[in-house]
Amino acid sequence: MDEARGGAAEGWSAGGGAVRADGADICIVGAGVIGTAIAYHLARRGLGRIVLCDQGSVGEGMSGRSSALIRMHYTFPGEVELAVHSLRAFRAWPEVMGALPVFRPVPFVRIVDPDELEALRANVAMQRRCGAVVELIDHDTLAGLAPGWDVDDVPLAAYEPEAGYGSGGQVAADFLARARELGVTYRPGTRVLDLRRQGDKVVGVTTQAGPIEASLVICATGVWSRPLLRTVGWDPPIDTELHAVAIVRRGGTGGAEQLSCIDSVTHTYFRPDVAGTTLVGSFYGPRGADPDAFPQRAPDSELAELVAAASRRVPSLAEGGIARSVTGVYDMTPDTRPLIGPVPTVSGCLVVAGFSGMGFKISPAVGLTVAELVGDGRATTVDLAPFRPERFAEGALIQPAHEYRDDLNSAARGGGGLRGSRS
Ligand SMILES: Cc1cc2nc3c(=O)[nH]c(=O)nc-3n(C[C@H](O)[C@H](O)[C@H](O)COP(=O)(O)OP(=O)(O)OC[C@H]3O[C@@H](n4cnc5c(N)ncnc54)[C@H](O)[C@@H]3O)c2cc1C
Repeated sequence: MDEARGGAAEGWSAGGGAVRADGADICIVGAGVIGTAIAYHLARRGLGRIVLCDQGSVGEGMSGRSSALIRMHYTFPGEVELAVHSLRAFRAWPEVMGALPVFRPVPFVRIVDPDELEALRANVAMQRRCGAVVELIDHDTLAGLAPGWDVDDVPLAAYEPEAGYGSGGQVAADFLARARELGVTYRPGTRVLDLRRQGDKVVGVTTQAGPIEASLVICATGVWSRPLLRTVGWDPPIDTELHAVAIVRRGGTGGAEQLSCIDSVTHTYFRPDVAGTTLVGSFYGPRGADPDAFPQRAPDSELAELVAAASRRVPSLAEGGIARSVTGVYDMTPDTRPLIGPVPTVSGCLVVAGFSGMGFKISPAVGLTVAELVGDGRATTVDLAPFRPERFAEGALIQPAHEYRDDLNSAARGGGGLRGSRS
């Protein structure tokens, strides 16, 4: 394996290296949607022997808790491009993956604060240049599409007729199944204790069951990334943030069954879920959640507050009652965009984590582009250079031209509150 480290996105080239008799060419840690997508795409390219380890089993991390919205409305072109490429993969899932369909079509509406309409216009124009199918709709059009909603305060919204939602558990399981057919070795119940190094080079991992040698280790470890990467002297800027989701029985008057929405006015997102229910999620959550010991249910008062906020937009949500809740932890970075690329302190190690609440919808394209990075030395389908982990040390945080206030992680940027509409 060629181990020359380059700048920016040029992290690794895996072309034509030696295969170790007692180890793997590539060891991926983490079998969520990100690790399994990478395993599948590396195996498709025939990039050597691949081992995929997880301390639990496939999809059991945050992927299995994901609200799994699939939409393209982002403010940074690189994110939009990853979402556009991934949407194509989700829509063609049975043909591409030989699996049952995972994509459930539900058009998506993005409502922004009334003083951010210029940003909305600019972002929709940018998204269209990136290949997204999206249009601006006025109040009357929205009222016609969403008869049960209260949209008196919405003069303009973005509308994605081709959006939908999926399932994190199914996507990870399907990627893993295809990866295994292509020769990837899967080791569930295998906790990686540390990254093994010789000098400044990572040469494998230590697991509870012994060492695995590898020329390249890829950490797709989500909210668990910090302790693992500290073993090679790097503390990635990833903070944890607890989020709650309420699954609400739909009330008699209807109104939330045909669209999904992210709404900056009510600070909620919602989409239809199975069997007459609607999933309602939060923009905010407390920092510092322990990924191994976070509450498995949100307090009733918090869920009631969340549903009350969403019912300002969809009044019928207040009628049906809360059927159940989901909690989960986001891996937040200072600019709310992922870390994808070489770990700064060592060679032989990539990090692909810190997805800040958006990793599900872009997982197919992340797998594809990380495989390009490994195989060719740089990603070509979407430029991954802006996501390089070094950007924080360089002071080169991602700062889109028309960022919404909700997308600003203002605490990390010196502001007061914690914000984020990242789902
Ligand atoms: C409540 C909630 C709602 C969300 N909604 C959306 C949404 O609507 N749309 C969207 O796009 N995204 C959403 N997200 C975000 C999305 O789900 C995540 O970004 C994505 O699932 C992250 O995938 P991952 O593979 O990086 O992490 P995970 O799925 O957490 O996988 C990481 C894996 O690494 C393993 N691991 C960690 N450390 C070790 C170790 N030392 N040794 C071995 N194994 C290890 C873990 O066991 C785990 O399986 C949501 C997230 C949450 C929590």
